[in-house]
This record gives sequence, structure tokens and C-alpha cells, in this order.
Amino acid sequence: MNPRKTELEDLGSREPNARSQGLDFIRSIITEDVRTGKHGGLVVTRFPPEPNGFLHIGHAKSICLNYGVAAEFAGACNLRFDDTNPLTEDMRYVEAIQQDVRWLGFDWDDRLYFASDYFERLYDYAVILIERGKAYVDSSTDEEIREFRGTVTEPGRESPYRQRSVEENCDLFARMRDGEFPDGSHVLRAKIDMAHPNMLMRDPVLYRIRHASHYRRGDEWCIYPLYDFTHCLSDSIEGITHSLCTLEFKDNRELYDWVLDETQVDCHPQQIEFARLNLQYTVLSKRKLVELVQKGHVSGWDDPRLPTIAGLRRRGVTPEAIRRFADLIGVAKVDSRVDIEKLEYCIRDDLNQRVPRVMAVLRPLKVVIVNLPEEQVEELDAPYYPHDIPKEGFRKIPFSRVLYIERDDFREDPPKGFFRLAPGREVRLRYGYFITCCDVVKDPATGDVVEVHCTYDPATRGGDAPDGRKVKGTVHWVSAAHALLCEIRLYDRLFSQPNPEEVEPGQHFTDSLNPESLVVLCKGRVEPSVARDPPGTRYQFERQGYFCTDVADSGPGALVFNRTVSLRDTWAKVQAKEAVRAKGTKRQATTPATAPRRGAARGDGNRRKPAAQRSRRTVDLSGLGLAPEQTEKLSGDPGIARLFDEALRTYSNPKALASWVTNELVRESKGRPVDELPLTGAALGSLVALVEQGTISRPAAKRVFAEMVQSGGDPVEIVKRDNLEQLSDARAVEPVVRRVVGAYPDKVAAYHSGKTGLLGFFVGQVMKETGGRANPEVVTALLREALG
Ligand code: ATP
Ligand code: MG
Repeated sequence: MNPRKTELEDLGSREPNARSQGLDFIRSIITEDVRTGKHGGLVVTRFPPEPNGFLHIGHAKSICLNYGVAAEFAGACNLRFDDTNPLTEDMRYVEAIQQDVRWLGFDWDDRLYFASDYFERLYDYAVILIERGKAYVDSSTDEEIREFRGTVTEPGRESPYRQRSVEENCDLFARMRDGEFPDGSHVLRAKIDMAHPNMLMRDPVLYRIRHASHYRRGDEWCIYPLYDFTHCLSDSIEGITHSLCTLEFKDNRELYDWVLDETQVDCHPQQIEFARLNLQYTVLSKRKLVELVQKGHVSGWDDPRLPTIAGLRRRGVTPEAIRRFADLIGVAKVDSRVDIEKLEYCIRDDLNQRVPRVMAVLRPLKVVIVNLPEEQVEELDAPYYPHDIPKEGFRKIPFSRVLYIERDDFREDPPKGFFRLAPGREVRLRYGYFITCCDVVKDPATGDVVEVHCTYDPATRGGDAPDGRKVKGTVHWVSAAHALLCEIRLYDRLFSQPNPEEVEPGQHFTDSLNPESLVVLCKGRVEPSVARDPPGTRYQFERQGYFCTDVADSGPGALVFNRTVSLRDTWAKVQAKEAVRAKGTKRQATTPATAPRRGAARGDGNRRKPAAQRSRRTVDLSGLGLAPEQTEKLSGDPGIARLFDEALRTYSNPKALASWVTNELVRESKGRPVDELPLTGAALGSLVALVEQGTISRPAAKRVFAEMVQSGGDPVEIVKRDNLEQLSDARAVEPVVRRVVGAYPDKVAAYHSGKTGLLGFFVGQVMKETGGRANPEVVTALLREALG
């Protein structure tokens, strides 16, 4: 079996690339917008980093999406620095970000923008809001503002300054700008609704006073606009059509739209949220990355262990591999944590096609070829690429009496299954000869083998024996007199936990840093052919992995190599071994592909613990962005609250979960106490994730849910068993649509005569025919098309 293929299939089966099955949800929306001529049929996107840190691979996902969409729809994508916080931003970051975006292969042409260039216009928009009675200067303290905001269950209270006159507000705001007041004495707030169910709409702060120098505007300004005010207006000023952002901004969309409506701008972009990238064994929060850099846990922003673009580049990863990764993970509507193997797979697969193979010995063991005269040096031909790579090239490698092989490739007492060198054993030297071990030399003090003596068979040059005898092992090697001494940096995962962001109380995320994330080997030897390669050149060290010379520290005479990625997943093997050792004491943390766990890895799967053992902690429902009546329903019954809390650990989408718990659960449980149902929180979380990801339709999910409430079970299994996966592929749904339209000619005629409400009838028929499996959005779009 071809191992590469298996790896790909394995990855593919867990999370197929959305685009291989059709368009992802963002591209579907944009396709429809272009078709209907919304935004004048244009597509303009932007990538809006704040210059307060280096970009990471999560940003790369956003860059690939924004630039990718713009290119696919013949549109444009702006690079905009969202730089309105004078305390954290820096020109150094602006430069690094530009370098990284370019390196990833994207270009903004002349569309480079800075929100800080919009300060005058933003100020004018704020004045418009004040004049329209939609904003006011509040002189409450931060604490008072917080206190008056209310909670998810209680409405807020109005500030005593809310009724200031337009004139007074205009005057105060101008004087705020003029620097008359100290930091924190006044803010400008939108006047919306202090009882609004969306807490973000309770008179959000738009401007604050900060007497601080801005890295571009210097001391020109002492009031700075906040994100929710700046972002939408910057989008509008630039004529953005689709403002793509991550899910945590879902609740901000209402405010985004409010600001644009109330400032009465002409251009009103459309905000669409997608799931941010989270990756196993690393962190993708800038705040945490800053901490790792500033506290010296890593050597800098480009430390090859970091998930930053600069770190990945220095480690030897190519932009193509990162783009391929972005493509592979696709765009989803649900947050999840992506398996690190996916990234490693993309890196390996890309480098495999691209880089030459050379030989290097990481931990050398001296081998003396006793039947080769001391002065004899032979040159052997060695191809740079294996047969299955369509690239050519050879180099000469010197073969002489003293060689180095990998220490691990020799065993004095070889265990069963060890086919490499051992006393009396014959092995093949890659591209060289067969050698047989005839003696060993030991350190008298330690007893360690320090030298191995071998004979070679001159008839086996090139690696084949004329008498047809076979050897089981092939080892890599270098000639001691010719090899170059080098430092080899073995990089591994930065954290030893798959989810380092999940921290137990009293712990800090840096507690799970992997102490072995960098192992430096100072006595490596590499074949001499690499001597004159430029810094950053990438190789495969045969049988070891992919490496590159370090751009910062490597030079002629002092080579330093970084390991980009090992050939196979050695880590998984180590982990597996450890897991076996620890068996029975502790379970490994796992990350289900469809439904990531939010809480600690408790490993209780879908089995429900007896009620007595279940978490007794009180469930905190604040800060989840739920409507007050939902919070009330959830907190009214401890069983329901606990189930909800458990479900949240599997799938952290409070709103979606709350709606299932407060509607479907209440209906299906038919009055039975929730604690007695066989339904588990984990199973509920998985189910809701399946719906939100679009894997199953809502009607199908309701059927599955009914079963889960009656008899338990794992929704993923039930969906598989009953073949309920949603049909989103237009090609699968279209024949049914055609059949339905053909079956009701009179209704079609009525529709054409203006009874467009009949669309619902047709949708219903198609849904019925597909057993509820068709994706209603796809059905609606196809029906519209079919009905003309
Ligand atoms: P902070 O944590 O400081 O808010 P950020 O990571 O959101 O920073 P920004 O510079 O504000 O960084 O992000 C620029 C863009 O990149 C935003 O549109 C943001 O949504 C997107 N982005 C940031 N992190 C990720 C991620 N992990 N996955 C996908 N997109 C991301
Ligand atoms: Mg941000």
C-alpha cells in the first residue's frame, strides 16, 4: 500500500475540504450576491490586522480566504492596518506583516490602507451621530459604566449624562479632542438601548481619551475610536462589499450595521463570520504569543517553534504548504481545533515534491572499513530525488575508510526485528557498498561502543550483490574526513497538550510548554555537497526528515540546520507508548473531529455518569450572549443547566445549544426529569455541531434528537446508520427539483402568474422526497432557478 495515499485518505475522511464538495458557505453567499447584482456585482474584501504582533497561521487562513475570494471573483482585496490603539502598535509590526503577506504569495497592489488615516473622517462621522441625537458624551467612570450595563438577565440603566443636549455633546466632544480633559474623564457613547438583549448594543463606547503618542499620528490625537466604530466605517470608506471576520464578532454585527445605518453612509458592507483557526499543540492568540516572546519562552517572533508566519518560514515551511493547509481545512461556521497532523501532512507533502535528498548523521558513530586502505577515496553517484519525483540531479559523495553512521543504526544486542548493523550483520550503505560488522571498540570507562569495525564487499558498489544475496537494512552515512560538522536543531511541538488554552484552575497556559520542543545536537555531520548552498536551503535528510539551514544563525563553516518536520509522526509513536505505560491511570486528551471539546478532557465520551458523580458546580450562564428569557429557562432547572454546561464543553456555541435545550429538549422530554434521560451533554453538543456545520438538516436532526432523548446514542453513529447526511451538492438535489417541478404544472403556472408564495410548497415537496436530507438553502436556490 502506498503510505502517502493512506495518510491523505485518513486526513480527508476526517474533515473533507469543503471546496472539493462544492462551494463553502462564504463562496456560496458571494456567488449569489454577484448573480443578483448586490453591491453592484462587485467583490471587495480586506485583510485588517492590528499591528500589535506578528501574523500567525490563523491569520494565514484569513489572508487566504480574503485574497482567495477576491481573486476568484475578479475582485480586489485591501490590506488595512486596524491601528487605533496607540498603546500597543508599532511600525515594526507593520513591516513584518507586509513581509509575511507578500511571502504567503499575496499582493495588495496600491491598496494599502491605515485606519489611522481615517481619524478625521471618523471624527466627522461621530459628530454626525451626535447631531442626530445618536451619540452622547458620558462622564461616568469606567466602573459606573460597567455597573450600569446590567447583565444578560437584567436590563442596564441609563447614564445620568444620557440626556445631554446636542449642543453640550458637540462642545464636550470637541474639547475632548482638543485635549482639555484627562484620560478616563469622558467617553463618547452610542445612544441605542440600555435594555437591549444584545449587551453590545447597550450604548457602546465609541471614543475614549488617551493621551498617548500614536506610532503614525504622533501626538495629533488624544481621542481614539474603538473597534466597533472604526471597523465598519473603514470598510465603508474603502468600498468593501464582504467584510469577513471570525465568529467571535457575530454579536458585533448588529452594532456594525447600526453604526453604518445611523451615520447614513452610502456603502454598507456585509459582515460574514467564519470559524477561526485553532490548532493542536499551539496557541493562536496574539496576547499569548506576545507573552511567549516577551517572557523569553521562545527566542523571538520568528522562533521556529511558534505558529507565526515568520517562525514557520524560518523552520523551513513553504508558503505553498501553508496555502494548501488553508485549502484543506476549508471555511466552516463552527470553531474547532484542527489536528496538527494536517499541517504536518501539508508540509511533508509539499517538501517531498520539492527538495533534494542528502545524507546527514545526527548522532554520529564512527565506522572503520578495515579492508579499505587509508588513503583511498571513492566518489559515488547519488541521485537527489527518488524515482517517483519528476526531478533530476546527481551529486558525488565521497566514500573512505572512516565513516559516520547514526548511533541508533547500530545495536550490540539487536532486538528482534532490528535489521540494521550489529556484530556479524551485513547491511547496505545507501548508494554505496554492503558492509559487515566484524568488531567493536568500547570506551573502557563506560562500556559504550565508540567505534564499529566493518569489512566492505567491493563487488556491491551501488548497493547490489552480483551473487544475488540480500541484506535487510540500508543505513545512511557520511565520510568522516569529508563531512561538515553542523548544529542540528530538532524542533517539536511547543506544547505537550493538544489544547494548551484549556487550563485547570490555578494553572497557566505556559505550564504545558513541552520541555523538549527544542533539542540541539552539536555534533551532526552532513555530506559536503551542501557546503555552498544559500541560507534557508531545504533538504530531506534521508531517513530523518526535512531540514533547512537556519537563515539567522547558519553560515559557511558553522552550519545550523532546523528540522522542519520529521518523516513520519514520531511523536504519535512516543505518545502511544506513553499512553500504554500510563494505561489505567489517565486517559489521553482527544479532540473529536466534528465536535471539539471545550472543557478539560474528561474522556467520558458519550457514556453518561450516574447523576451523583456528575459535576455539582453551579453553572454560570453570564457572558454567553444569551437572551434573558433563555438564561431564565436554562437556570430554572438544575438538570437542564448541567446538561447545557456539559454540552458546551463539547461544542462551545451557547446560542445554538440554548435554542435546542429550551425548545426541543423541553418538547421531547415530555415532562421527564432531564437527569433521568439517557441523553448526554456530549451527545447533544455533537448533534448541534452537526447541524451548525451543515452536516445534517434541521428536520433530520430533530428525528435524531428524538431518538437520543428516548434511548440515548451517539448522533454521529445514528446519522451514519440512517444515512442522514445533508445533501448540499446541487448535482444530487437537482434531479429531485426537476421531478417536483414537472409533477405540478398547475402550481408552476400559478407561481408564474404571481403566486410566489408557492415557493414554500415546492421546497416542502423536495424536502419530503429527500427524506428531509436536502439542504433547504440549496433547494430554494435551485427551485428559484428552475421556476425561472
Ligand atoms: P487579537 O487577538 O489581538 O484580537 P487577532 O488575532 O484578532 O488579534 P487581528 O490583527 O485583529 O488579530 O486579526 C486580523 C484578522 O485576522 C482579523 O480579521 C481576524 O478575524 C483574523 N484572524 C485572527 N486570528 C485568526 C484565526 N485564528 N483564524 C482565522 N482568522 C483569524
Ligand atoms: Mg482582532
